[in-house]
Amino acid sequence: MPPATHYCGRFAPSPTGPLHAGSLVAALASWLDARAHHGTWLVRIEDIDPPRCQPGADHIILQQLAQCGLIPDAPPVWQSQRHAHYAQALQRLEQLGWAYPCGCTRKDIEAAWQNLGMVQQRHVERPYPGVCRHGLNGKSLRSWRFALEKFIENWPLALDRPRQGAHYLLNPPSLIWHDRRLGVQQQNPAQVAGDFVLQRADGLYAYQLAVVVDDALQGITHIIRGEDLADNTPRQMLLQQALVLPHPHYLHTPLVRMPDGEKLSKQHGAPAVDVSTPLRALNKAAQALNLLPVSPDTALTDALAQWVNMWRASYNTHRD
Ligand code: GLU
Repeated sequence: MPPATHYCGRFAPSPTGPLHAGSLVAALASWLDARAHHGTWLVRIEDIDPPRCQPGADHIILQQLAQCGLIPDAPPVWQSQRHAHYAQALQRLEQLGWAYPCGCTRKDIEAAWQNLGMVQQRHVERPYPGVCRHGLNGKSLRSWRFALEKFIENWPLALDRPRQGAHYLLNPPSLIWHDRRLGVQQQNPAQVAGDFVLQRADGLYAYQLAVVVDDALQGITHIIRGEDLADNTPRQMLLQQALVLPHPHYLHTPLVRMPDGEKLSKQHGAPAVDVSTPLRALNKAAQALNLLPVSPDTALTDALAQWVNMWRASYNTHRD
């Protein structure tokens, strides 16, 4: 039997502000799952988009985590210091024919959507209309895109590549995967995102590329994060496939909502989670994860025992 892969999980906050009640849920769940598997838990600061970052928020987040007893097993890494890895991955994708230059401005894309009759609907992303798919046509390079549609067309070729686990099934043009909490998920990524951006016009690397590269380089086997990110999973799985990287297991946690039903987020002015009484903060996060209130002094141990019980089936299936 091949040796079992060592479990490695992570919490990957964007330092756009301090931790709020919603992000603590993802942090706690990823910590609990790593501990339940006797694995490693890492923290990665996703400061890939400096205009959106708040100076000092990274250190505040690390302090908030520490106050709740959530201490990573290795020093955190900052994405802003890892550009060379993203550049290398982009170059690899280009060599393989899975990345192409795009010269479109926002206006060009809008015009193409208009021509195709693709009108904007609330909360619905429109896929890139493919303007530069066959060349820049005299335009100058602005960004790099993943040739998602071409990649999916070449699926049988992609399927020959090594991949980890049998917890997902690829069924072009839809991608079907298994989320440990949400169950079987399905998406046609060409309809949802199309050929998405890998490197932006301002030179910054896109979240999708950075996250896939770092998860692989850090040996992440299990990704636990908020449900608002579930829609990104197919794009990330395709990039993993294109770069011949293993697919981690996924579990998306419930979102904490504001009284008006909107998801709690920094953009919607979610307040920083108050960790002056860590027990209260942890209990709120535990409640969102369907765990019972935990006792002072043994809060994390209590939560861990409940987590193990709740996920026993999945824990056994995903032991490696
Ligand atoms: N940095 C992302 C966020 O804070 C999370 C990325 C991930 O977990 O994949 O929303």
